[in-house]
Amino acid sequence: MPVSDRRVLILGGTAEATKLAASLVAQGYSTISSLAGRTRDPAKIEGAVRTGGFGGAEGLAHYLLHENIALLVDATHPFATQISDNALAAVQSTHTPFVRLERPAWQRKPGDIWNSVATLEEAVLSIPSRARVLLALGRQHIGPFSKRRDVYFVVRMIDPPETPPDLADFELELSKPGKKDEEAAFLTRKRLTHIVCRNSGGSASYAKIAAARELGLPVIMIERPHRPDTSTLPDVDSIISFVRERLG
Ligand code: NAP
Repeated sequence: MPVSDRRVLILGGTAEATKLAASLVAQGYSTISSLAGRTRDPAKIEGAVRTGGFGGAEGLAHYLLHENIALLVDATHPFATQISDNALAAVQSTHTPFVRLERPAWQRKPGDIWNSVATLEEAVLSIPSRARVLLALGRQHIGPFSKRRDVYFVVRMIDPPETPPDLADFELELSKPGKKDEEAAFLTRKRLTHIVCRNSGGSASYAKIAAARELGLPVIMIERPHRPDTSTLPDVDSIISFVRERLG
């Protein structure tokens, strides 16, 4: 019997969101996880799952009211800004209790050689001529790098792209990030001189940053977009405590 029959809507698409759904379901909460539908083969998620956009902030507000949502958790990726803005607007207009789960950004450590930039475009301009660069970015972020005809790119992604990247000189590497030693071996084998990535935070893709530190490789780090002030907690356990306080 659910401890609360009022439902928690989790805006997901992240490993933390999947973990949160599993923990809440295990504790008897009724959850709906929402996915944008971008990933071809998403990991299994406990509880109910819905897929696809809501139709902007208004569509989400409508969904909150009509699906009897007691609490909204925005557990989307730190760089997914539109859905988070929509979530804030929707909870404000419907007075729905709300919390955001956002893993902390990576912090620079001694030995890191980071060039922190604010945008993808700035990252494109920051690459030195004739560099060999690991582009550790989603396929939708590769386009702007086509301007750099003087750079060799190793484009790493999990799913093969529908069309090959429009880059002058590149190779595709279809794999997931490995552990630190595997990442160091990969960077060395490919004779890479730089990494371009986003400050996603979390542990799943941190190994390349640790490997770069060890090898003395510069990282062009695209920092997170500015977020509006909002109630944010850093991990699944603190979100569960929040849900328990609110819903019992
Ligand atoms: P976005 O630009 O913030 O959102 C664009 C639109 O996609 C939203 O307005 C919304 O459409 C729909 N949408 C986004 N997330 C949704 C969700 N969880 N459930 C239902 N609809 C959603 O988002 P994005 O950057 O494309 O990211 C899409 C999804 O991928 C997110 O769930 C995010 O957590 C995940 N993800 C993103 C990144 C990234 O780098 N951005 C990385 C890893 C995972 P409507 O306006 O029609 O509601």
